[in-house]
Amino acid sequence: MGAHIIDGKKIAELVRAEWKARADKLIQLGTQPGLAVIIVGDNAASGIYVRNKVKACNEIGIYSEVHAFPANAQQNEVLDCIQALNENSHIHGILVQLPLPSHFENNRVITSIAVSKDVDGFHLYNVGALVTGNTIFSPCTPYGVMVMLERNHIPIAGQHAVVVGRSNIVGKPMAFMLLEQGATVTICTSKTRDLLQFTKNADILVVATGKPRMITADMVKPGAVVIDVGINRLNDGKLCGDVDYQSVKDIAGYITPVPGGVGPMTITMLLCNTILAAERAQSGG
Ligand code: NDP
Repeated sequence: MGAHIIDGKKIAELVRAEWKARADKLIQLGTQPGLAVIIVGDNAASGIYVRNKVKACNEIGIYSEVHAFPANAQQNEVLDCIQALNENSHIHGILVQLPLPSHFENNRVITSIAVSKDVDGFHLYNVGALVTGNTIFSPCTPYGVMVMLERNHIPIAGQHAVVVGRSNIVGKPMAFMLLEQGATVTICTSKTRDLLQFTKNADILVVATGKPRMITADMVKPGAVVIDVGINRLNDGKLCGDVDYQSVKDIAGYITPVPGGVGPMTITMLLCNTILAAERAQSGG
């Protein structure tokens, strides 16, 4: 029997509907959630991501504004902008679209965002909070994965979760969130010797490498939950994940497709975090 396909679009719609009700309630109370997005340079993909975020905000009732800087902008101009947004009571979430141009210091910029407005969860304080189990904002992509697991009633405690990839935005926070829920977690990287030996033993396998279709059926335990975070554009313009979907779907118990899997969840969780930030501000928390 083939795997159950986890429909990220459908789960994202359900989650957005639930959180729209929370946004509506806030608006009734006089607080419209607000998100500010900062973008530096003219990276085409970043431009698309920002437009998608603004569109999603409009649809759910979040006020949004974009602060666009040229690629040769000075870091201080961006820091001044963040400072003003930190003090702006109409803005509850601030997001800096990565990557920044190479003359920027990522951590300096991200840590200038008020912790209470860091809806991406990338501020070093928020990273520490996540690691110690006192999460303030969960980073959006792994948060989306956790919601997908939860909505499919997939048990985590006691399971062996293998995360392939150790980036600060996906792999590492993913591993800590699974660990927090009681999984036994293994993190694999490009340096891992004999990757198959680890992936083959995973009850839950999360792949975030940016390497098209690198996880093949022989690397997966029958019945495993396979979450494919990867989004890769092939030469023919089509998108594919880091998992060889066609072969793995016949062996896995659950699998996420690309597109239509983790992707739709990421922006959804950003909306949730922004509404959460506004709720906290509204209640004085
Ligand atoms: P990074 O390039 O920052 O990290 C990739 C990680 O994968 C690194 O830790 C690297 O190891 C590891 N890796 C690379 N090759 C291998 C290999 N052969 N075996 C084991 N590990 C390997 O990528 P991101 O984490 O930012 O993104 C990963 C993928 O997820 C990309 O396709 C990206 O587009 C996608 N993505 C999707 C999102 C969504 O919303 N669905 C959101 C964010 C990202 P090492 O550290 O040793 O180099």
